[in-house]
Amino acid sequence: MCAKIAVIGMGQGGMTAAVKLLESGNQVTVFEKEQRGEVSYRWKDDIRSDVFSLCELPSPPEDCYEQKRKWLFVAPNFQNSLPVPPAKPMEEISIDRRALSEYFAQLAIAAGGIVKFGVPVRSLIVEDERVDGVVTSDGEEKFDLVIDASGMRSPFRAQLPKKFCVDAQPESDGVLYGYRAFFHRRADAQTLEPGVDCTMVLKHMGKQGISWCNLVGDDMVDVLIGRLGGLSDEDINEAIADLQQKMPILSKELYFGQRVQICLRGPIPVGVADGYVAVGDSAFQTMPLMGSGIESSMKAGKALADFIAGGGEFSAAALWRFWTDWMKKQGADFAFIDVLKRWALAIDQGQIDWVFSSGLISKSDLALVTTDSSAAKPKIPAGAIFKKIGLLLTRPSLTFPAIRHVVRALKAKRCAAHAPKKYDQKKIAKWARKYSKRLGAV
Ligand SMILES: Cc1cc2nc3c(=O)[nH]c(=O)nc-3n(C[C@H](O)[C@H](O)[C@H](O)COP(=O)(O)OP(=O)(O)OC[C@H]3O[C@@H](n4cnc5c(N)ncnc54)[C@H](O)[C@@H]3O)c2cc1C
Repeated sequence: MCAKIAVIGMGQGGMTAAVKLLESGNQVTVFEKEQRGEVSYRWKDDIRSDVFSLCELPSPPEDCYEQKRKWLFVAPNFQNSLPVPPAKPMEEISIDRRALSEYFAQLAIAAGGIVKFGVPVRSLIVEDERVDGVVTSDGEEKFDLVIDASGMRSPFRAQLPKKFCVDAQPESDGVLYGYRAFFHRRADAQTLEPGVDCTMVLKHMGKQGISWCNLVGDDMVDVLIGRLGGLSDEDINEAIADLQQKMPILSKELYFGQRVQICLRGPIPVGVADGYVAVGDSAFQTMPLMGSGIESSMKAGKALADFIAGGGEFSAAALWRFWTDWMKKQGADFAFIDVLKRWALAIDQGQIDWVFSSGLISKSDLALVTTDSSAAKPKIPAGAIFKKIGLLLTRPSLTFPAIRHVVRALKAKRCAAHAPKKYDQKKIAKWARKYSKRLGAV
């Protein structure tokens, strides 16, 4: 089957789908609002390197990535810290975001796709409650399927007929409001822990969120201030001033900075409509804790392309099979993590300081937190488990809520994995309400 498909935005999920759909003989046009060379951020972010082979894509050029740097987690009171065990060499990489966009553009063009840079999509064309195409600055164009890869703030979800139950906007605590800035390094100063370039402070200044301060190359420092619920100019200035006092490498010489928003919730319950599917951040298909949005989006894009290559049609009922399958395989785990994340971010600062100082979490435990779902997790020895249980029993104010939230997280996971099999809008609306409630998103 040769379908005519539009991709809105050069998000990685949409671009993975675009390349794979072109390879299986479809016609694909990508509309990107930014000009070529200016798509995405001016920095590097971390991903697992095997995501390209998992998505059956060639590796990106070697000069656009480097070995991921070592990380240190720091307690809110700065008294204790835990180094994150490094993965094998080049298993995790830091990739240049703009070079990654260009890599995808070149793949799509080489596969016969059309990539229109500097052409924002203004709205969807919706006729008889079906998405039929897009309106851009170049005019109207009809398509069999529109893939929305325009990111977390997609305005297109709100243009869909309500009967499809696609969430128009996420609730406020599904978003980490951030400010990312690059400062010059203070001459001759060293990082907090010698040999570890990246430092993440949990619940920095007791606020819901994190701050990081990372050495980049020899003379730049990458700072992120991230908060749930909102981030005022005053919050930014206070947090940076605090980091400037506590992080020896951070000077006052700003190179550039910008506000950002990071998707931090489990997937929206429904991401399909007649002629429409959302992938990546526009469907919140991202791991809501680990910052692995690029990888999750790419895997979702590949799964969508595989579904379409298998002869899928583009009605909501047909696309629902793709959606529920994805929810079962990945979305359910993300829902589990989302519930625990909401709780963890609301924990009192003193409790987190205790977790670090008591030895409840050790360096080797952090190896359990990996984005690689296929990797064998290291085993914690029985003696260490008993020690942890003993420690937890001394802290019922932390332990009992933790148990309660693990149970809630399991219920959310189960709910996510058990969406109605058949496309029945009434049943889906009921399930979507239940799922959002389980997530704590209503
Ligand atoms: C500060 C920060 C740090 C992060 N760190 C990491 C990390 O270390 N690892 C990781 O995996 N992820 C990280 N992420 C998350 C990651 O950026 C996203 O999860 C990932 O890019 C997936 O988003 P996306 O592909 O769906 O869309 P996006 O990357 O948001 O791309 C959307 C695209 O759509 C275009 N667009 C928007 N509207 C229109 C329109 N109307 N018409 C045409 N084009 C449009 C935009 O210009 C953009 O190119 C980070 C995000 C931020 C902000």
